Amino acid sequence: MVRKFDIIAIGGGSGGIASMNRAAEHGAKAAVIEGHHLGGTCVNVGCVPKKIMWYASGVAETFHHYGSDYGFSAQNIQFDFAQLRKNREAYIERSRSSYTNTFKRNGVETIAGFARFVDAHTLEVNGELLTADHILIATGARPIIPEVPGKELGVVSDDVFAWEELPASVAVIGAGYIAVEMAGLLHGLGVQTDLFVRKEAPLRSFDSYIVEALIEEMERTQLPLHTHKIPSRLEKTKEGLVRIYFEDGSSHVAEQVLWAIGRKPNTEGLNLEAAGVTLTPSGHIAVNDFQETVVPGIYALGDVTGEKELTPVAIKAGRLLSERLFNHKPDAKMDYRQIPTVVFSHPAIGTVGLTEKEAVATYGAEAVTCYTSSFTSMYTALADNRQVAKFKLVTLGPEEQVVGLHGIGYGVDEMIQGFAVAMKMGATKADFDATVAIHPTGSEEFVTMR
Ligand code: FAD
Ligand code: NDP
Repeated sequence: MVRKFDIIAIGGGSGGIASMNRAAEHGAKAAVIEGHHLGGTCVNVGCVPKKIMWYASGVAETFHHYGSDYGFSAQNIQFDFAQLRKNREAYIERSRSSYTNTFKRNGVETIAGFARFVDAHTLEVNGELLTADHILIATGARPIIPEVPGKELGVVSDDVFAWEELPASVAVIGAGYIAVEMAGLLHGLGVQTDLFVRKEAPLRSFDSYIVEALIEEMERTQLPLHTHKIPSRLEKTKEGLVRIYFEDGSSHVAEQVLWAIGRKPNTEGLNLEAAGVTLTPSGHIAVNDFQETVVPGIYALGDVTGEKELTPVAIKAGRLLSERLFNHKPDAKMDYRQIPTVVFSHPAIGTVGLTEKEAVATYGAEAVTCYTSSFTSMYTALADNRQVAKFKLVTLGPEEQVVGLHGIGYGVDEMIQGFAVAMKMGATKADFDATVAIHPTGSEEFVTMR
């Protein structure tokens, strides 16, 4: 017997869960097929464990670097990584249970196993056949491991979250979100961490004003950044460590080498050919603005499509798809412009919209006016060794519409969501200036720039 649903999501991560809950809320008979753990990357090996480790690293920073300036003398501070890990995993378990409970409440069926297409409307899971009017591919992505000799001696971000002990030293290879975040939090937790980027800087797609500040902060906090390092091979040393060689002939030894060089879509094993679903040249599932693949009734969203690989993007795209399919909203679709995002670096980076370089490339230098502000974070103002904070607005045209907003500094992670709303509404620099500042905060810089 072939079981029939209105909609099935392949993948119980951020996008699949959000979409199926919304579909069920509108009365659809919905199911999620998940091969590992419900919650997907974000909950199990992404945003959630990462953010907990980032907070832990922040606690360590306060104890070790700033507490004494506030009059606290904490001696013999002990850090029990096993305790952190245990509490982190318990929190993740609670998050997974909450997904299961919401599914039960909404009547979404969970099917454990890996799905593959039999034809455009039929899926096979553990030998069972399932069919649906609508099938959503939300299978996410996984870390890329480069094709260099000894590559298997390196680990990926998933492995970091499985560590039962922190290693003494880690060489982080990569230049994006994960490399920067992992390097920062491991360094903060006392691991000897080195960051190796293959070009001149990390986060090269971010505004250079902010990246320069990040590099200054790495220098100030003594996190070694090695530029122009292209990995060529890995070898085990006699001591059981890993030596990584670079194309310039140099090498570096660490207990762990972490590959953080990007992620690739989970499409293998889906038997997409049987359904007729096509891929982009980068191997992501090709979709139009409505998340539709070339096959009617088959959709894809989230990391597997290679759009902005962020949890709220997958969630929003998933909910909008269900609104369109099951709630009479034929025009509902995701707007991929001006998506706010935070890198949980030390300190955090927040950004919405265009960098100065992108704005100039798109509109021409004459049309773009930028404003910047740089100061010392007040949180560290009592210390000798103070943390930098930098903010930038990119504006367009004589009306100075704010098309880019960038910041690095203490609290930036919690600062920019509201500014993103203002930008979505088309706010100008004059609107920002007309808003009374909140003092003393970092965010007031955005409304007082000259
Ligand atoms: P996923 O959440 O990856 O879910 C896909 C699911 O599909 C997985 O559970 C997988 O097991 C399942 N699956 C795959 N193939 C099959 C199959 N054939 N059958 C059944 N199931 C299958 N984003 C943020 O917004 N903020 C952050 O702070 C952040 N931090 C991150 C930190 C790290 C270390 C990583 C790796 C990612 C982070 N991200 C963050 C990105 C975020 O996790 C992803 O963008 C998001 O999870 C994508 O959701 P998705 O639904 O597309 O895929
Ligand atoms: P990214 O795509 O962000 O960055 C990977 C970078 O690694 C590339 O841009 C490139 O930078 C460098 N690189 C690529 N290939 C190699 C290579 N062979 N050797 C050395 N360096 C290389 O990937 P991540 O894995 O960091 O993260 C994937 C995505 O997950 C992110 O883009 C983001 O969308 C999401 N994410 C979001 C987070 C958040 O919201 N806070 C946190 C973590 C992940 P260059 O060209 O400069 O060398």
